[in-house]
Amino acid sequence: MSFNVDKLSILYETPVEYLPRISRELGVEFYMKRDDLTPLGAGGNKLRKLEYLVKDAMNKGATMLITVGGGQTNHGRQTAAMAAKYGMKCAILAVDEYPGELSANMLIDRLFGCELYLKKPDGRPESVQLKELTESVIARYEALGEKVYYIPVGGSNVLGALGYFDCAAELDRQARSMGLGAARVIDTVGSTGTYAGLYLGLKDVRSDLHLTGIAIMPFGEKNFARLEKYMNEVKDRFGMDAEVDPADFDIETGYVRGGYNLPSGEVREAVELMASREGILLDPCYTGKAFAGVMDMIREGKIARGEKIIFIHTGGMPGLYTPAHRVEFEKELMDGVHVL
Ligand SMILES: *Cc1c(COP(=O)(O)O)cnc(C)c1O
Repeated sequence: MSFNVDKLSILYETPVEYLPRISRELGVEFYMKRDDLTPLGAGGNKLRKLEYLVKDAMNKGATMLITVGGGQTNHGRQTAAMAAKYGMKCAILAVDEYPGELSANMLIDRLFGCELYLKKPDGRPESVQLKELTESVIARYEALGEKVYYIPVGGSNVLGALGYFDCAAELDRQARSMGLGAARVIDTVGSTGTYAGLYLGLKDVRSDLHLTGIAIMPFGEKNFARLEKYMNEVKDRFGMDAEVDPADFDIETGYVRGGYNLPSGEVREAVELMASREGILLDPCYTGKAFAGVMDMIREGKIARGEKIIFIHTGGMPGLYTPAHRVEFEKELMDGVHVL
């Protein structure tokens, strides 16, 4: 199914690769879809959503993109890259502490010419503080004559979901051509736009792929209800005929390891394993945590020995350089640094 919705066309098909050393070590057939290699701003999954969102902004005559997230948001970095490419202004707003140095995604955001607004948390609900911050910054730029296009957290709104709706068809086609038509697809779940798009898109092409999400922050009843509502909104807006059935949502919620972007030794081990066996960099907030979850699922028998899995690498590599993670890596890895 295709829709009469405008999008930019900067992405090409990302590869699906077999990872032989990881497969041998984990006892499964491990494949990876390399959405970390999408071709702008250090890559990642948000570009697929932004192809739709930024085109919509341009159609509406916007001169500036404003988005929100954590201070180290990957989505913000990719939005900033898009803004640079298409000659728009950009700002990222966060209720977050300044980490004491300009590094990781925040450094890259500034290279793209994007402004950062970090509001120190004051103890009130984060959503309330973020709403105030967003309203005041947007009003400020509008008063300066900018036409602002607001993009919600993770680019996960109705339009953004189409990015992974499209990706589902691409992935299904690739998987079938590789004899992986009934494999299990692993998706890292944050703001849920990727999962929602994949879910609807896989149904649309009547795929036999099984979609498993791994949540990287607390995900409960409310989140499942919100996800169902979100998917139905996407479905209704674009007249999709896929049935949204919460009974076949498959999202693992037990591998959160404390909360969003918190340092975890198990996640660092997972990042190190992938890096040292395949030369592929995961990140400590999203994909490393999801991969640590996959390793647990294999140990626990939730993923069977020999099972074919396609792990979607959604990007995030700059997160390795966030101070909170880097200092922990340093403690563990200094033993191989020989200062002579
Ligand atoms: C945003 C992000 C995700 C999660 O995608 P959602 O659509 O927000 O669920 C996963 N991995 C990385 C690296 C991300 O930046």
